Amino acid sequence: VVLDDPVVRAGLDQLWRNSSPDANLAQRHEQFGWIVRTATGYRIQPLGAGSFCGFDGAVSSPVEGNDAIVGFIHTHPYSIGETILACDANMQLSPAVYQGGPSDIDRVTSVNLGTQLGRSGPLPGVVIDKNGMTVYAGTQKTMDVAEPRCGY
Ligand SMILES: [Zn+2]
Repeated sequence: VVLDDPVVRAGLDQLWRNSSPDANLAQRHEQFGWIVRTATGYRIQPLGAGSFCGFDGAVSSPVEGNDAIVGFIHTHPYSIGETILACDANMQLSPAVYQGGPSDIDRVTSVNLGTQLGRSGPLPGVVIDKNGMTVYAGTQKTMDVAEPRCGY
C-alpha cells in the first residue's frame, strides 16, 4: 500500500534513475533511502549512494523524526543473471551472478536498522532491480513479497 503512494512512486523513480541502471557496471551506483510517514502520506528521503557492500546506517534522520521511518529502500541496478561484483562475508568484492532480491548483507542490515531505531523487529526493506521489487524484513526469506515494477 505504501508503495502505491504517488509521492513514494516518484521517489522510487528518482532513486532508480540516480542509480544509472543503463550505464556500464562500474558507473552504476546503488541508491539508498528511507521510506518516511508524513502528515499526508509517505515519501522517500534519499540517502545517497552505497557500495556493493551496502549501507552503513550512519545517515541523517528525516525531519519527521526516526519514529516516522517505516522502511528503507535501495536499488540494485542489475538484471538477474548478470555478473556483478558482490560483497562477501569478509567485505571483499568478488564476481558473482546476480540472483535478484535482497542479499544476505541486506537482510542483516534490516535487522541492524531495526535494532538501531529501537524497533521490536527488523526494519522492513525494499529492493528494486531491473526485474522487479522485493519487500523483505530480516533473514526470514519466507516473508519476502514480490511487487511489480509498475511501469518504470
Ligand atoms: Zn542490496
